[in-house]
Amino acid sequence: MSGRLGQSRRGGRMTMATFDIAVQDRGLRGAERLAYMGIGDNDGVATDVAVAQWANETQSDACEIILALCEKGYLIEREINGATALCCPRMRAIIDERDTPRPVAAEDRPAPVPPSVRAWVMERDNWRCHYCGTDQNLTIDHKVPRSQGGTNDRENLITACKTCNCAKGTKSYDDFLAYREGQAS
Ligand SMILES: [Zn+2]
Repeated sequence: MSGRLGQSRRGGRMTMATFDIAVQDRGLRGAERLAYMGIGDNDGVATDVAVAQWANETQSDACEIILALCEKGYLIEREINGATALCCPRMRAIIDERDTPRPVAAEDRPAPVPPSVRAWVMERDNWRCHYCGTDQNLTIDHKVPRSQGGTNDRENLITACKTCNCAKGTKSYDDFLAYREGQAS
């Protein structure tokens, strides 16, 4: 894991050790602390696989822990490489600084999905997650990630719950469907 965490703002090395201290400062304990560590090691992106490995939990329990961290405000929903993911803002700020040597011009920045389009897509999908069918905690997912040329066109948008979103991470639509089939079999 060394060398993956980039430079801090002051030019010092952000390591898992310093991240660990930051986690302790935030008062997390037990499985949630391990989950937060796993998310930090996963470039700040919360996925059930990363958390399950770090916290030694099942992937389904890992999702529950991730959702608990969301509800407590430790994780936020964010666009990463064109896909929506649940992230640790603190670690993402460090990664973003590492990966963004110069400011991105405003015209190159992906536009957010307008609220009216979000509502239209959720209405079309009957306010249910495309992957699991729940009507709770719904978000908008890009089938083709924007980093791969995916747009905010309605055909490219799909309704997904936060749980499926956290399992999806930054996988593409097809990769995630294949992954789900692998899990089910
Ligand atoms: Zn779902």
